[in-house]
Order: sequence, then C-alpha cells, then structure tokens
Amino acid sequence: MPATILIGTQWGDEGKGKATDLLAARSDFVVRYQGGNNAGHTVLAGGRLLKLHLIPSGILYPSVTPVIADGVVVDPKVLLEEMDALAERGIDPSRLALSGNAHLIMPYHLELDKVTERFLGKHKLGTTRRGIGPAYADKAARIGLRVQDLTDPKIFREKLDLVLKEKNLVLTRVYNRLPLDGDSIARDYLRYGERLGTHITDTGALLYGALRAGRRVLLEGAQGTLLDLDHGTYPFVTSSNPVAGGALTGSGLGPKEIDDVIGVTKAYVTRVGSGPFPTEDVSTAGRQMREKGREVGTTTGRSRRCGWFDAVLLRYAVRINGLTELFLTKLDVLSGLPQVRICAAYRAGGRRYEDMPPHQTLFHKAEAVYESLPGWQEELEDVRRFQDLPGAARAYVARIEELAGVPVRHVSIGPDREQTLEVGKVARHRRPA
Ligand code: GDP
Repeated sequence: MPATILIGTQWGDEGKGKATDLLAARSDFVVRYQGGNNAGHTVLAGGRLLKLHLIPSGILYPSVTPVIADGVVVDPKVLLEEMDALAERGIDPSRLALSGNAHLIMPYHLELDKVTERFLGKHKLGTTRRGIGPAYADKAARIGLRVQDLTDPKIFREKLDLVLKEKNLVLTRVYNRLPLDGDSIARDYLRYGERLGTHITDTGALLYGALRAGRRVLLEGAQGTLLDLDHGTYPFVTSSNPVAGGALTGSGLGPKEIDDVIGVTKAYVTRVGSGPFPTEDVSTAGRQMREKGREVGTTTGRSRRCGWFDAVLLRYAVRINGLTELFLTKLDVLSGLPQVRICAAYRAGGRRYEDMPPHQTLFHKAEAVYESLPGWQEELEDVRRFQDLPGAARAYVARIEELAGVPVRHVSIGPDREQTLEVGKVARHRRPA
C-alpha cells in the first residue's frame, strides 16, 4: 500500500489540520516528519478544544498510530504535557511512536532562541522561540542530543556536559546571561526519558513494515512549502524541510513508497511576520480575509498578513513537491466580495514571470499581474455538493485548477468535517456557464 504526503503549498496555516483530519480517518498511521512544537492544530478532544503542537492530530482516531519520526525535533517536556492533556480528556496516548533518532530540544536551545532574536533586533526572524532553530543548528553541527540518548544516562550526561561547556560560554560571555546547570538538566531529561521509554522505537522500520502489510500511511507536513529551509523564501523560513522530499528524509521511507502528494492550499494567501508578499492586500478585501478567516496563529497568537490567491506560488509548490492533487480550503471566506482576484504572473525588473523569479531581489520587487473574476454574494457554509456552489465560486476553483495544472479534489467551505466538498471528475470538467 503506498503512502500519501500532505503538505501546505503556501506559508503555512492553509488549514492542513482539517485536511489531515479527513484523511486520518482513512489512515492507519499519521506521521509528523519535520519541525517541532511550532506547528499547531486546534482539535476537538473530549468535548473541549485542545491545541496540539507536536503530536499528530490523528491520535484522536483510536485506530490510528500517531508517529513522531526521525526528522522532528522534540521538546520532551512539551510532548509529555500534550500526552497528559490528551489522557485527561480520555484519549489514550499510549499508541504514540517516537523515533529514537529525533533530536531533542534542550533548555539552552530555548534560551539561545530568545537571546539571538533579541540580538537581531529589527532584523529578527520572528521565530516561535521554542528552541527549534537552535536544535536543528546543533543537529547539523553534529552536537545534538537525540531521543535515544535519554535511555542511556551515562552517554546522555557525557554528551550534555560537552555541549553545555560551549553553550554556557556563549550564554555568559556573548549574551550576558546566567549559565545553565547540567545536574538539573540531566535530572529533568532523564525523568522525561523514563516516561517516554515505551514510546521510543525505530519508526522508519515500523512504517516500512506497515506499508508491506498493506496499511495506510499519511505523512503530514507542518508549516508550508514557502517556509522550507531550501526551497522557501529564505531567510524568512523554518529550520527544516516541509516539502515532499523532506517527508522521505524525515521518515526514512524511499521515494517509491509514495503515490499521492496532496497540496493544501487556501483560497487566498496569508503570511506571518516579515518578508515579501506580492499579493498582500491591506484594503477591505484583506481585512475581510483576516476577520472572516480568523487569521490569527494557533501557536503564536499573531495576526496574519492577508492577500489574493497567488498562482505563481501555487505552480512553484506543484513543481517542488510533485503535487498530484489539491485540497482547497476556506473558499467561504471570500463570499460577499464584488470581485475576486488571482495573481497569474509577476512583473519584476521589466520582465514577466510565470514561475518563481530566480533571484530573491526580483521576488522582493515583484508586482502581481492579476486576473479579476466575478465574486459571489451567497454564503457557502451550508452547501454540501460541489455542483451546488454558486457558478462564480465554481469558476474561481476551475481557474485555480487550470493555472495549477493539477486537479482540485476537495473544496472546504467551513471548519466542520461535513463542510468539505468532494470534487468529482464530472463536476470538475463541467465548467460553469
Ligand atoms: P493549519 O495549521 O494549516 O491547520 O492552519 P490553521 O492553524 O490556520 O487552521 C486553520 C483554521 O481555519 C482552523 O481554525 C480551522 O478550523 C479553520 N478552517 C479550516 N478550513 C476552513 C474552511 O474551509 N473555512 C473556514 N471558515 N475555516 C476553516
């Protein structure tokens, strides 16, 4: 049975939680493969809303095994808090599988994340300050501590002491902070290790075996394509690889295990923090997107910048991820606008670009070349079949599909499960009059 990858095509916050939820219901394993507790899904658990930042939301389905795979960085304290919060609401977290290869977020990562952002001043990246970037930096520098180290107290302490010597010098001499105490870190972390012990396993082997046994695996990307460390809008990116390629390195599966790569794309675009955003709209339409779409971060509480749909970015995401289909979210948010715009190309440096410009400076200067389509006034939340959407809304979806060159298979028109419309082949190709 092949595995499916699900990723965001924009700067994150595309509504992946909802798409994952729908697909998780049909999966046996739901896997996080990169990032840390900087993702955020708000889920309904035990009758109450719960924010999950690290554990895949698939844990809500008793038949799903949630997996935190090799490419994730794990703050064990946060992980245990999430497990406890789930248990309190009657959801059993004992099925969770945690890779021994995943790297640990350590107290000095949190501290360094804070002080380096302060040091960068107005050039700060706007990180979530959860220590994720510094943990990935140490992984690349080969001085990271891994989840498996928690199960060997002697090795853990040796590695910690070696790293802490350098970290404390940086903290005290460069940033004028107090040094961290190795004894207390070791005590806390080894206690976390005891609690996590039964979850730690070779998740790559687990998933490989599952696929051989015909089980369905969903690999769930956090953040989005444009936040990818290599392929995103560097330096305003995350410190890992959300793109489809990252799902392979981050889970230990080979490329032939995958068939579908689903791109979750919002019917407009949002971006958190600094950096270029060619279709940003600061007028009435942008305000409607922010208010009606409730564009405030789950993890950070920050208000998001909003703008028109950008087909240049979508085509880029199609190419970088090898997308096979699209899951379009939040179409309902655009109801009531007199017209809707789609950016079909950029103009920069006297040239037209249909694909991402090859230099960052061009992207910074890019002006959107828009197509305007008629808007629709009807609210969409009660629609239950794609063909019952207003003609203008269907035309908008059809144009996105055409510009992307990949089929839109689902359209979401509200936060609830039943507010997802399947777009059948017939409906898709019957263009509205
Ligand atoms: P994620 O991290 O990609 O899941 O994105 P967010 O944290 O921004 O979550 C999306 C938010 O939008 C959640 O509060 C969802 O309940 C909500 N949502 C998802 N799909 C839709 C939709 O089609 N319409 C509306 N109005 N809200 C949606």
